[in-house]
Amino acid sequence: LFAGPCEFIFASARPDDLPPAGPPEIAFAGRSNVGKSSLLNALTNRKTLARVSNTPGRTQQLNFFAMGVGANGGERLRLVDMPGYGYAAVGKEKIASWTRLMQDYLRGRATLARVFILVDGRRGVRDVDEEMFDLLDRSAVSYQIVLTKYDELKVSERAPMVEATRAALSRRPAAYPELVFTSSHSGEGIAQLRASIVQLLHE
Ligand code: GDP
Repeated sequence: LFAGPCEFIFASARPDDLPPAGPPEIAFAGRSNVGKSSLLNALTNRKTLARVSNTPGRTQQLNFFAMGVGANGGERLRLVDMPGYGYAAVGKEKIASWTRLMQDYLRGRATLARVFILVDGRRGVRDVDEEMFDLLDRSAVSYQIVLTKYDELKVSERAPMVEATRAALSRRPAAYPELVFTSSHSGEGIAQLRASIVQLLHE
């Protein structure tokens, strides 16, 4: 799946402008600067699938990518890059339109198999992440936490971060219990994340 083609197919900036549902979709979301672009590039083996950017909060759209080739010659999986959230300099109006876009997509997408929520492994779950969890729980969309930038954690810091993250998810109905730890710099955890995604296709 990850060795095959991965092509940009659609950008959606408005809830009424989503591409027709096709194969299963997995989406990636997280706070701005969490390392989402780097992770998507590492995951798909591309240097520039998602732009690694130093200006967080810029892209306010859902980007759809087609992955793999199925038995009928079509795409096997769709990857959806959601706009980063929690960037303070973004105005209220933008936050409202972002929330509407997310809500409409999350509530209405029957083919959405899982949302991977990226959380900075050095910082852990923040209030804006909790707001995202609330939205996902309300929408009954399965989500799984990916702790990023794991290369920056000392070995002694890892277990406490896992504990704290598990605690934050403990009473959340739509949270998938297994955590994934990744580093786009060292490549740690990328294989495990790919395995979780492939497994989803067989569920
Ligand atoms: P995005 O805003 O979530 O798309 O984040 P980016 O992928 O643009 O990364 C934000 C910053 O974090 C950049 O300076 C990256 O070099 C850095 N970064 C991304 N992934 C990692 C990682 O795995 N380890 C470390 N140490 N830094 C990372």
